[in-house]
Amino acid sequence: MNDQSPNAPSVNGRAYPLVDHKYDVVVIGAGGAGLRAVVGCSEAGLRTACITKVFPTRSHTVAAQGGIAASLGNMHEDDWRWHMYDTVKGSDWLGDQDAIEYLCKHAPQAVYELEHWGMPFSRTDNGTILQRAFGGMSIDFGKGQAMRTCAAADRTGHAMLHTMYGQALRHSADFFIEYFAIDLIMDDEGVCRGVVALDLQDGTLHRYQAKQVILATGGYGRAFFSCTSAHICTGDGNAMVLRAGLPLQDMEFVQFHPTGVYGAGVLITEGARGEGGFLTNGEGERFMERYAPTAKDLASRDVVSRAITIEIREGRGGGPNKEHVFLNLSHLEPKMLAERLPGISESARIFSGVDVTREPIPVLPTVHYNMGGIPTNMFGEVIRPTEDDPDALMPGLMAVGEAACTSVHGANRLGSNSLIDLVVFGRAAAQRCAELAGDGASMPDLPKDAGQNAIERLDRLRYADGDIPTAQLRLKMQKTMQNDCAVFRTEETLQQGVDGIKEIWEEAKNVKVTDRSLVWNTDLIETLEFDNLVCQAAVTVNGALNREESRGAHAREDYPKRDDENWMKHTLAWGDFETHEVKLGYRPVHSYTLSNEIAYIEPKERVY
Ligand SMILES: Cc1cc2nc3c(=O)[nH]c(=O)nc-3n(C[C@H](O)[C@H](O)[C@H](O)COP(=O)(O)OP(=O)(O)OC[C@H]3O[C@@H](n4cnc5c(N)ncnc54)[C@H](O)[C@@H]3O)c2cc1C
Repeated sequence: MNDQSPNAPSVNGRAYPLVDHKYDVVVIGAGGAGLRAVVGCSEAGLRTACITKVFPTRSHTVAAQGGIAASLGNMHEDDWRWHMYDTVKGSDWLGDQDAIEYLCKHAPQAVYELEHWGMPFSRTDNGTILQRAFGGMSIDFGKGQAMRTCAAADRTGHAMLHTMYGQALRHSADFFIEYFAIDLIMDDEGVCRGVVALDLQDGTLHRYQAKQVILATGGYGRAFFSCTSAHICTGDGNAMVLRAGLPLQDMEFVQFHPTGVYGAGVLITEGARGEGGFLTNGEGERFMERYAPTAKDLASRDVVSRAITIEIREGRGGGPNKEHVFLNLSHLEPKMLAERLPGISESARIFSGVDVTREPIPVLPTVHYNMGGIPTNMFGEVIRPTEDDPDALMPGLMAVGEAACTSVHGANRLGSNSLIDLVVFGRAAAQRCAELAGDGASMPDLPKDAGQNAIERLDRLRYADGDIPTAQLRLKMQKTMQNDCAVFRTEETLQQGVDGIKEIWEEAKNVKVTDRSLVWNTDLIETLEFDNLVCQAAVTVNGALNREESRGAHAREDYPKRDDENWMKHTLAWGDFETHEVKLGYRPVHSYTLSNEIAYIEPKERVY
């Protein structure tokens, strides 16, 4: 193939031949959200491709433990309105109530769909799906603890992802497995027209043209030093959106899970407390009773993470250096532990040498989930706000799952509300695609140089010949985020974080990649991922410095109160890849519901 061919863009004198593909829909990501979208799109008869950098069942969804929320009412009477109330309250009123209504109303049907697809849920004695208690989930608008979280032992994500991959294979979607998406293809009108990806196995480059691209690329936990997320959670889709000149939303809201295994960061599910586990400090005190007298250990995650941090900070931690607290399970029936919490029993043994039937597990709050992401409406369509219309849409591009900010989780996600978000909005996005990308929709030819931006990015990093190895820069970024953008934040720490991350983003120009090949080049892929992470770190810490209030997971010690008058609004953040500055703006929160089946839930103080 010669260099001048439109199929072989040339960068710095090097030809990069492209293999071209055309689809109605290209889904990037094969976690829960991506696979649900793939199933829906292929069922609707759309020509669908799914690109994933790891084998589908290795996506981070596989690691989800505790369960998936839906008001099935198997353990007691339940109502989607109660689930909605809890989600709004959990979000600290930053969630969009129309989208939350959509989520909670469609949740039971989404769980039954998984059941009918063969998902092996745990069962009650009478054969219905087992539901367990999770933090922030209540009966009758806050009147008592609800059991709403449907579980397959403590391996719910594993059961779910395998079930969904099986379903996806029943249809005719094409899977491009171990393909790394580099960048979106945007045309001059600002419409998304496709994506360029690298086949990791043989180094070939692929250009996908599509009527709709769905980003389902997951979260970016790896911007932090200690997180429960897999190494692949680098928010690649979020970074593609920033590079396309679009904003990300509410990125300052980063959830710390209260119970990561001390030292390893591996998750111990909230289901452990749902089944009766409790926290103690170094003095053996059940301290959550002081912070959340009613909900105690099952207060929402932001509340428990802050309580643990205060205990440790005030010298009441456990262990030789008083650096953690304890999660106690040894009072629970060993049979129940073996049946319902086998996975975390094993993790505790491997990662902290603890036998949970005898000893408590040392735990510490650990980065777990990103509430922020790509702004979308409840059908997954990406929002590109204009001055006149804060909800204006970006043609050709959708986002679902943890990559998206729909926004149902607002300032703090309730446990088990992510898995349900994946399937409810994965399905909704597919239905919207059926309307937007069917036979009637046209697919004009791509501009001649389509994809050049992606190839240039690849070439720049492939031949990066600076003097700082990627691993060194990444570690510096992760430590900066961990220290300066933590559970508690102040202007001083955040300013330090803003300056530190800007410096690292600038230093990234000087990154060193040693392996120049295109075949299974992990050095290059990790550099592309770091390059994705650092811009997300920048928008996260800048958003956090800017938001002068405390809401949900964003706890400012210098602004300890929620300030609805000035801050009940979504943050938008754009990255400037030349100057490494971040520009901020806002979008109003949707303060209305979808139907008249429930009234707008008025803001009030969160008491647990
Ligand atoms: C340890 C752990 C336990 C959890 N437990 C629960 C729970 O019990 N209940 C709950 O509700 N939530 C839980 N969560 C949260 C929830 O699991 C995640 O938010 C959710 O699974 C994310 O799903 P996703 O489909 O958005 O993305 P992921 O499952 O993260 O998948 C991302 C996909 O994108 C692909 N991808 C990414 N970048 C690229 C690229 N550049 N090119 C090609 N492909 C790409 C990956 O290959 C992957 O297939 C847990 C999270 C963790 C980390």
